[in-house]
Amino acid sequence: MIFKQVLKSSPLHRRTIASLSALSETHQSISKTCRDFANGELRPIASKCDREHLYPIDQIKKMGELGLMAMSVPEELGGAGLDYLAYAIAVEEISRGCASAGVIMSVNNSLYLGPILGWGTLKQKEMFIKPFTNGTKVGCFALSEPGNGSDAGAASTTAKLEGNQFSVNGTKSWITNGAESEAVVLFATTDKSQKHKGISAFVVPKPIEGLEVGKKEDKLGIRASSTCSLFFEDCKIDKANILGEPGYGFKIAMKTLDSGRIGIASQALGIAQSSLELAMEYASKRLTFGKSLLKFQTIQNKLAEMALRLEAARLLTWRSAWLKDNGKPYTKEAAMGKLAASEAATFLSHQCIQILGGMGYVTDMTAERHYRDARITEIYEGTSEIQRLVIASNLIKEMGF
Ligand SMILES: Cc1cc2nc3c(=O)[nH]c(=O)nc-3n(C[C@H](O)[C@H](O)[C@H](O)COP(=O)(O)OP(=O)(O)OC[C@H]3O[C@@H](n4cnc5c(N)ncnc54)[C@H](O)[C@@H]3O)c2cc1C
Repeated sequence: MIFKQVLKSSPLHRRTIASLSALSETHQSISKTCRDFANGELRPIASKCDREHLYPIDQIKKMGELGLMAMSVPEELGGAGLDYLAYAIAVEEISRGCASAGVIMSVNNSLYLGPILGWGTLKQKEMFIKPFTNGTKVGCFALSEPGNGSDAGAASTTAKLEGNQFSVNGTKSWITNGAESEAVVLFATTDKSQKHKGISAFVVPKPIEGLEVGKKEDKLGIRASSTCSLFFEDCKIDKANILGEPGYGFKIAMKTLDSGRIGIASQALGIAQSSLELAMEYASKRLTFGKSLLKFQTIQNKLAEMALRLEAARLLTWRSAWLKDNGKPYTKEAAMGKLAASEAATFLSHQCIQILGGMGYVTDMTAERHYRDARITEIYEGTSEIQRLVIASNLIKEMGF
């Protein structure tokens, strides 16, 4: 992978955030490679893509060439063969440049490739992983429906076995990469009487007869990524496209979301980091009452609080990635990382606008985009309320109550 060659030639770099210095040389190099890419390729186009709802197609291809679209997929399947900490670091840096590119990358890595890597057959891996590693093709993950988001077990899309094929009927909503994706990890009920234990997972090529893609939603933020409904009407899927065992879909979805949350936490960290850098840069240059904003203690207090929340969230996120990399349970920790990072992104982007004053409120500066982009991180892959439920239920279990 070109990514590996770049890593070898990348000199180490320094950042204002001290946590970076605790990383291995490889992880620091990944951070620098992604930061340089984000500065050179993503930051210059992010505002235009946001304004015009443009999918950054060339940049996603370049990210694929760097190995960023399949980071923890083994090299023999076309991936970069790196660990989840590397992935978390990369998503943060990419999202610091463009939060939309961050979610496109995160969905392809965690939500699409992740379950196929975990539960796919050799044939499914050949067909649905290899072509999706280099950025020319992306996948999507279709769990949510108009009638159920947080309550994912209440899925009403059905997949009825007819001979050697399943016939799928129903609507999936809010699907990231819905417009561009060329395959879908789909969740549908194969046995209604079993409720969530009757949900199965499938991998479906796209386009396919019987699947219609809805309009792109006009969103508050992450506007360069597409979000669409997928309408299934008597869509025939080969029996061989089931992922794992029938009825195992809900478990696959929940396990996939555990690792997906590390990606979204990292996306939030990137937005928060960018907000902090912008606030510091602006405060250092802006003069009020004859001196730099940076010299006022009120502003310093804000910056201190921003740095504190960002660093705490980053450590929680990296800890969850480290636990996953070391084969330890990480459901609660990933929920903690996602909750802390998404709320930090909301807080930091809010404070960034405050420090910029009027300039924070206009599109000439990126502060308002960060504020809009941050908001989704508290909603998708489990809302903040759902993260609290996950944390509390694991806590109760762990403490034996
Ligand atoms: C831009 C975008 C991209 C998305 N991408 C994808 C995707 O790629 N694939 C996919 O499958 N889905 C995707 N989603 C869907 C997303 O995961 C859901 O919107 C989210 O899980 C919330 O579900 P909901 O919108 O149905 O809200 P609801 O579940 O209706 O929740 C509404 C409110 O009630 C709260 N609430 C619900 N239940 C409880 C409870 N038990 N206790 C306390 N509070 C509760 C929620 O926290 C929230 O505040 C995306 C959504 C958006 C907006």
